[in-house]
Amino acid sequence: MWNAGDESHDEVRVVFTAKRSGRLAVHGLACGIVNHLHLDDARPVLLRNMYQFSPEAHFITTAGKVILKAGGAAPIADDKRCAELFVKSCNRCARFLPVNIPHERNHLSFSNHCVADHRRPCKHNGFGRLRNPDTDESLSLDYGFQLECRFCKKFEVNAAHNPKRTAAQMKEDAARRRGFELLIEALSGGTPQLQYRHETGRELADDVLARSNGCCFNCGKPFPKGRGWHLDHTRPLALLWPLDGTATALCGGCNSEKRDRAPVEFYAPEKLQELAELTGISMDELRDPKPNMAVVGVLLKRLDWFFDEFLATPDMTREHDGKIAGELVVKALQKVLERCPGGAPIDLVAEFNSRRSAG
Ligand SMILES: [Zn+2]
Ligand SMILES: [Zn+2]
Ligand SMILES: [Zn+2]
Ligand SMILES: [Zn+2]
Repeated sequence: MWNAGDESHDEVRVVFTAKRSGRLAVHGLACGIVNHLHLDDARPVLLRNMYQFSPEAHFITTAGKVILKAGGAAPIADDKRCAELFVKSCNRCARFLPVNIPHERNHLSFSNHCVADHRRPCKHNGFGRLRNPDTDESLSLDYGFQLECRFCKKFEVNAAHNPKRTAAQMKEDAARRRGFELLIEALSGGTPQLQYRHETGRELADDVLARSNGCCFNCGKPFPKGRGWHLDHTRPLALLWPLDGTATALCGGCNSEKRDRAPVEFYAPEKLQELAELTGISMDELRDPKPNMAVVGVLLKRLDWFFDEFLATPDMTREHDGKIAGELVVKALQKVLERCPGGAPIDLVAEFNSRRSAG
């Protein structure tokens, strides 16, 4: 990709010079002006290496004209068999983009997955084990490739690390999370960590760490001594799951990447099986994430308490950039209810509005 900067370049010429005779194959030649929402508001530091994001960042909005010219006596042939190119689909944008199978380290549109010596060969399904859906042939790689193309990885998956994009949203997210935590605590009578201690006589965090053998459940990296690890809910708080005995220990990177995602949206299929064994959550449940129906059930029985008392607590009446925490929580809860089997049992937002206008 060519960064035209402020000047407008209406012609870009690329010349290949061969040191010995051979064949040169080109794929998907295109030119034009690239535009993308993510590029408009990206921090400048993220844009420094964009020229390498080719072809995954070719979001051409104004197409130019490509002229192919051969120098000397070299003929140009439209021969698809002269070179083999592998393409792989991106988990996010669903585009088929090239990967370099013969030389995995020169990875093209997807970064490598398992690079460290002790992690190779990458045996992760979808990463190091690729399947051709047309022929059902499969391929075992050494380094493997990420699920998301480099563009999606940079601007969507890693967006959590982009403070500019998330500053205001982070505050709202935090208010919603806090609201869900307080609600679960109130509905189930105490913090999950305390409940765990009551039931087992042990500390939740100690048990989860012991079970992890000191390594991140997702990437396997060992945690630095006694620190640098995070308790992950496994089933997301966003679906009303508390931090309980099913929690997993993740490194900081994996934890922030997983965020509110359900296990099926984050882990490779084989990892899900491992997770089922580790946590005792059934595979059916892991494959088909549902809201925590126990909490939903209690909430429905205690609607008066929820509207009159819970939403009146200082945490819930607090304002965040003009938005009342309680209202954010009501809206987020409605989204959870909509994911209940059989649909939302109640319209919480409508109930909230009618109670507010009545009261
Ligand atoms: Zn993508
Ligand atoms: Zn891997
Ligand atoms: Zn990790
Ligand atoms: Zn951390």
